Amino acid sequence: MPQALITGGAGFIGSHLSDCLLKLDYNVTIIDNLSTGQFKNIAHLQDNPKFRFVIEDIRNVHTTDRYVSECDVIFHLAAAVGVQKIIQEPINTIETNIGGTEALLKAARRYRKKILIASTSEVYGKGVKFPFEEDDDSLVGPTTKSRWSYAASKAIDEFLGLAYYHEIGLPVVIFRLFNTVGPRQSGQYGMVVPRFVKWALDNHPIQVYGDGEQSRCFGNVYDVVDAIHRLSTADEAIGEVINIGTNEEISIFNLAKRVKERVGSDSEIQIISYDEAYKDPGYEDFMRRVPSIDKIGRIVDWKPSTALNDTIDQIIAYYRKDD
Ligand code: UDP
Repeated sequence: MPQALITGGAGFIGSHLSDCLLKLDYNVTIIDNLSTGQFKNIAHLQDNPKFRFVIEDIRNVHTTDRYVSECDVIFHLAAAVGVQKIIQEPINTIETNIGGTEALLKAARRYRKKILIASTSEVYGKGVKFPFEEDDDSLVGPTTKSRWSYAASKAIDEFLGLAYYHEIGLPVVIFRLFNTVGPRQSGQYGMVVPRFVKWALDNHPIQVYGDGEQSRCFGNVYDVVDAIHRLSTADEAIGEVINIGTNEEISIFNLAKRVKERVGSDSEIQIISYDEAYKDPGYEDFMRRVPSIDKIGRIVDWKPSTALNDTIDQIIAYYRKDD
């Protein structure tokens, strides 16, 4: 059975990808430095003989080299994530995202291993043409706004991955994740859905930033890891950049109402200015972010299958159990 290496495997998406691959009978090794990943996400796997957990930074070349040499395919998900954390720690964002991907690509080249690199819809920035297609221009803000360091660092990862493919024929696949939500996601670093669910469960005010008219499309993590696995088995995906997301769109204000309703909560919905929320004067948000999912449909015949209400209910159940 194939041996998969997942960097960031104790994170929200990485841990679900571990579950998915183990169910498909893969052997799975994860490397995670537990910076935002959490042991509790993979605690249920620790007695599984097909699962191995290495606590290490992916920039440690000795560790990365060893586990890359032993695997058949690499899923590179380790990254600095979460808008709030990125604004607070831009040095860590830039160094982890660029240095980590560079270390993985060098090891993948040494042993000629297939590597799938997680990128992000942040790369589209403030794009104004909807839906976002993979070849669209990237419209990111100025370097004086630290939020954009995430998009820029991930864009460099994409350039680097594609360069390894074009220059030396390394099998590289880049997938751009749009907002992805589900059980195990932490609201600690800014992600809106788990925050709203927790606030609603605690009858704490639900804080909507800006005017709440901005919208997002929230993909379900089980659908997303299925897409990532499918891409890893498709030759047509090699050398390509591919969106993964859903096109069910909702405004953040309506999301707050929806979560409140599904929890049956008494929480008040509060409108908070961006300055107050992010403590970063001139914080830049964007109004819409909608993926085109035509390309992934063509390549691996995938489309999202979980409605947002069902995803919200999964998250509510997760947090109810957690308390
Ligand atoms: N947001 C909010 N309240 C929160 C956290 C986020 O209203 O407690 C807003 C945020 O300003 C953005 C949207 O929800 O407009 C999605 O935020 P998230 O950080 O989840 O993702 P991203 O901004 O990367 O799409």
